[in-house]
Amino acid sequence: MSDNIRLAELLFPDIKLTPDDLEEKFPVRDLKEGARVTRFAPSPTGFLHIGGLFAALISKLNATTTDGVFILRIEDTDKKREITDGVSEIIKGLEAFGVDINEGVIGFGKETGEYGPYTQSLRKEYYQTIAKSLVQQGLAYPCFCSEEELTALRETQEKEGCDNKGYYGKWARCRDLSFEEQKALIESGKTYTLRLRSPGSADKRITFEDLIKGKIEMPENIQDVVLLKTDGIPTYHFAHAVDDHFMRTTHVIRGDEWISSVPLHIQLFKVCGYRVPKFAHISPIMKEENGGKRKLSKRKDPEAAVTYYAEKGYPKESVLEYLLTLANSNFEDWRRANPKAPHSEFPFNLKKMSVSGALFDMVKFNDVSKNVISVMSAKTVYDYTVSWAKDYDVELYNLLTRDEAYSVSLLNIDRENPKPRKDIACFSEIRDYVSYLFDELYEKNYELPENLTKEMAEEILEAYLKEYNADDDKQQWFDRIKAICEPLGYTPNVKEYKKNPELFKGHVGDVSTVIRIAITGRRNTPDLHSIMSLLGEERVKARITDALNFYKA
Ligand code: GLU
Repeated sequence: MSDNIRLAELLFPDIKLTPDDLEEKFPVRDLKEGARVTRFAPSPTGFLHIGGLFAALISKLNATTTDGVFILRIEDTDKKREITDGVSEIIKGLEAFGVDINEGVIGFGKETGEYGPYTQSLRKEYYQTIAKSLVQQGLAYPCFCSEEELTALRETQEKEGCDNKGYYGKWARCRDLSFEEQKALIESGKTYTLRLRSPGSADKRITFEDLIKGKIEMPENIQDVVLLKTDGIPTYHFAHAVDDHFMRTTHVIRGDEWISSVPLHIQLFKVCGYRVPKFAHISPIMKEENGGKRKLSKRKDPEAAVTYYAEKGYPKESVLEYLLTLANSNFEDWRRANPKAPHSEFPFNLKKMSVSGALFDMVKFNDVSKNVISVMSAKTVYDYTVSWAKDYDVELYNLLTRDEAYSVSLLNIDRENPKPRKDIACFSEIRDYVSYLFDELYEKNYELPENLTKEMAEEILEAYLKEYNADDDKQQWFDRIKAICEPLGYTPNVKEYKKNPELFKGHVGDVSTVIRIAITGRRNTPDLHSIMSLLGEERVKARITDALNFYKA
């Protein structure tokens, strides 16, 4: 028995599985040519950043557009970053925005798929199986250096002006311990990590083709990185290689903070004898600030959290639509040409992603969302609003559900037509939007535009109250407003007014503004005839009378 085999037995006496067993257990997937297997691999921090949702969406699109598989893997090897059930929040976030998974973690302690477990803390045996095999081949070794010794090493390197700092070559003290020394240290109970015996050399470079950033060249990895920590749990890098190999990931799509680790990752895949997957590194989502660009920050920007969109009541369609405009610059042209097509039909292309980082523009996002909501049916808006309000605005929920037909009709004003109004960006705006249609929410505001006086308003409302007929259709309704214009000194004809403004007190627009303010408390609303029909005769008359009394007082 060679020393390597002896060492492997000493380090992993309980590991009976072999890499071949795992190859058999997780066979190459039987997918059609070109199908991509992608994954989203967050740590269970309980926080889903919009950039995470973006990366997950991109990964999912790569899988779905190629008839592949999209996996959710939970990377919980760093216990410091973990919170109790940080998984559900992430799953909820993905679900809320329609980024559904094919395989992986589907709930706290729940998984689906044949390539699991998909939670790293449940895969310890697999990592150790591979680690054992690396030790057997002399490609990994135990390192007994303590934290203090490693710090001292760094300080010496610092002092000596060493270009490459870290644990490698002559600095790697435990690299060449004899088996007897290793055995004695292990048996004395000394803690150890397991390190890679890096085959890299400082004068070599590696190149790889990043599917977003293009060709990248970097120095080869020379560090004997830690593969297993003292508790036998793998580091992110080692787990990444083992998991993406045995989950048969074809495309690793992730944030570009990992790009500097790619030389190490490629080396790990190769050392383990695995095929290296394709890499695509996404630039972070940026925000404009003081004329410059910076990363959207979890700490500073509420819109960095996916929960922000749920709380405000942005529909998932708007968020996805906007993320796609950020993902591919040709998405907007495609959308114009295919206004009704589902996202899944968009020919998404990794190569068309921004290399410098897409800019998240709240104003633009709101415009996108207004468009998305404007083409929804009133019933859809009702359902969305009610389901949002149930969690976030119980008073609104109770009002809207009290009489569903009434609520749907009010949401249908100026909707379901070729030119719908575009004034709602998120469902939390509905409260204000509909407030004058519910007595409980209605706030009087009789303030007039500058060109109109209280006396003018009084005259108009008195005349209109006599003229008003609740049974009018829209044309009759408007004719009556016009009819009160001339006797009061206004013209029903706006053009005529513009020609000779000195001849009139105002025009039909001024007259209807007074009526609109009296009934809704606003100068600007959707179609007033529809609003009045919904309110009904009694409430319309009462509101006009209240306004009249106000102006008279
Ligand atoms: N768990 C890593 C993170 O939290 C995932 C990196 C990867 O996708 O490979 O960023």
